[in-house]
Amino acid sequence: MNEKGLLLVLSGPSGSGKDTILTELEKRESNVKISISMTTRKPREWEIDGVHYYFVTEAYFMRQLESGQVLEHAQYGGNYYGTPKNPVDTWLNEGKTVILKIEVQGAEKIRNLYPSSVSVFLMPPSLKVLEERLRKRESEEEEEISRRILTAIGEIKRSIDYDYYIINDIVNYAVSDICAIIQAEKQKTSRMKNIISEVINNA
Ligand code: 5GP
Repeated sequence: MNEKGLLLVLSGPSGSGKDTILTELEKRESNVKISISMTTRKPREWEIDGVHYYFVTEAYFMRQLESGQVLEHAQYGGNYYGTPKNPVDTWLNEGKTVILKIEVQGAEKIRNLYPSSVSVFLMPPSLKVLEERLRKRESEEEEEISRRILTAIGEIKRSIDYDYYIINDIVNYAVSDICAIIQAEKQKTSRMKNIISEVINNA
């Protein structure tokens, strides 16, 4: 375990409430950094380039990929999504808690690349609620909503591979759950090896 910080992967079906949870988490935890992904998807009406995503062309995405600037990437709904490598490495070296809000294929890659990372699956209370949330968002066509529900079922099947499972019924409770996971993970003996040897050496 070389990283000083904690790398946390948060996955969950589209509409499970990842953004809401993370906005609240940032208010509670000052040491948290949320990675901004690159995507070739078109921005939704309210989305801001450089805040929600870096909205890029496919050609730019491929160039970044080829030059090793992307930590992991996946295709989702016909678009590319990827995590820029540099900020994540920098923040981990600074001892920050870094959160990657990525889908299940990316989560698997991160698990292999960073065995000490932690993965959390955010679950909507039901598929019915998920569908309602997607419809409320009004940013997707009917066909896209059906496709996202089908993808959600596939993702939920893979949730068994995650370390933790949070049901996002009441936002405040779900945020408290993530805070508790972060706190417990930081206290793990395996992350305390440097402190333990320091104590012993100074005894
Ligand atoms: P959306 O289009 O709803 O913003 O995102 C679609 C899915 O792609 C979500 O599950 C989201 O978490 C995931 N995603 C966003 N950025 C990345 C990324 O950099 N890598 C991977 N693997 N998935 C991502």
